[in-house]
Amino acid sequence: MDEDKSEFEDVLPCADKLAFDTKKEAQATATTAQYQNGAEVKPYKCSYCHLWHLSTNYDV
Ligand SMILES: [Zn+2]
Repeated sequence: MDEDKSEFEDVLPCADKLAFDTKKEAQATATTAQYQNGAEVKPYKCSYCHLWHLSTNYDV
């Protein structure tokens, strides 16, 4: 059915994570989340989708 189409897009390990286009955007959200949750939140650039995600605690 999808023989020519890669299915990798559907199985990215980060599929259920928030994604941001820019580091600035991710950082702003990280700062807010850190205040609200008291957890350590850091933005990092994803090597799978090349967008920015937030890393909470050690869940990378
Ligand atoms: Zn990603």
